[in-house]
Amino acid sequence: MQDINKALNISLPSPLEPLHLSTQGPVTPSLFVKRDDLIHPIISGNKWRKLQHVISDYDATRYNGIVSFGGGYSNHLHALGYVCQQLNIPFCACIRGDYSKNLTPMLQDLITWTSQLQWLTKLEYQRKTESAFLTERLPDLQTHLLIPEGGSDQQALTGMAKMVSELPQQITHIICPVASGGTLAGIIQAVYQSKRTIQVTGIAVLQGKAYLENLVSGIVLEKDALNAVTWQIWHEFHHGGYGKRSPELLNFCQQFEQQYRIPIEPIYSGKMFYGAIELLARGEFAAHDHICLVHTGGLQGARN
Ligand SMILES: *Cc1c(COP(=O)(O)O)cnc(C)c1O
Repeated sequence: MQDINKALNISLPSPLEPLHLSTQGPVTPSLFVKRDDLIHPIISGNKWRKLQHVISDYDATRYNGIVSFGGGYSNHLHALGYVCQQLNIPFCACIRGDYSKNLTPMLQDLITWTSQLQWLTKLEYQRKTESAFLTERLPDLQTHLLIPEGGSDQQALTGMAKMVSELPQQITHIICPVASGGTLAGIIQAVYQSKRTIQVTGIAVLQGKAYLENLVSGIVLEKDALNAVTWQIWHEFHHGGYGKRSPELLNFCQQFEQQYRIPIEPIYSGKMFYGAIELLARGEFAAHDHICLVHTGGLQGARN
């Protein structure tokens, strides 16, 4: 593990920085930002946490490459495409939709890094987890290692546990954004296994009440963790859905960056900070709480 982090110039552990809010809620808990956005200039924070075990276990004698899935702005495909190029692993990115006539900056990077691109229709994309699908549609990729969308598989949990282990004992709460659920699931399981008393709060970046709770519960391997750990997802800070942005959110991101000198984007980290600050203002936390806000990275995804 250390070798692979070294080979890729990943800088871990990531810094934990105090955050002094200028706006006061009813009480003032201690706030910290876990700067996973700083672990690498290209490989996005939580995506590396989730990928590192799969990549360091990758066996080039067994597979001819890696195949994975995502949208045209995917931080997961971006991180994976770069990592594969650095490690000389052939990589195929299956994209939801045909962007061949208007490549996004993310896709242009993948091409620079010699990734193979496959455009899937929405219908094909829905079938991507069926084993018959790959055999029929992409027979050449049968000998590739398949990593699911968002990298949220069970090995991702171990990677997130490392993040939790880097946090000092005084932390009582962890807040993170939620999309495919792997990050939150990993944190819940890590808190359980470490026997620490930490409450875990997810901020949904897409519409999915009940759906997201089920997704997270499905990824956690040790099901006891789901009852033993206090965790919750807030569903009122997605600003209309995945990738959707309201004027308030864009305003918030701009002001936040100016005030605190922490770069954020409106897809994940912006919604997480917005939600967390709103919850603080509502008095959802106590003065003696020590709250860790996880900055999961993802700035590349906000390029146009
Ligand atoms: C993918 C991503 C998330 C969401 O993590 P999940 O494990 O999919 O819930 C959060 N922040 C950033 C920056 C991401 O790229």
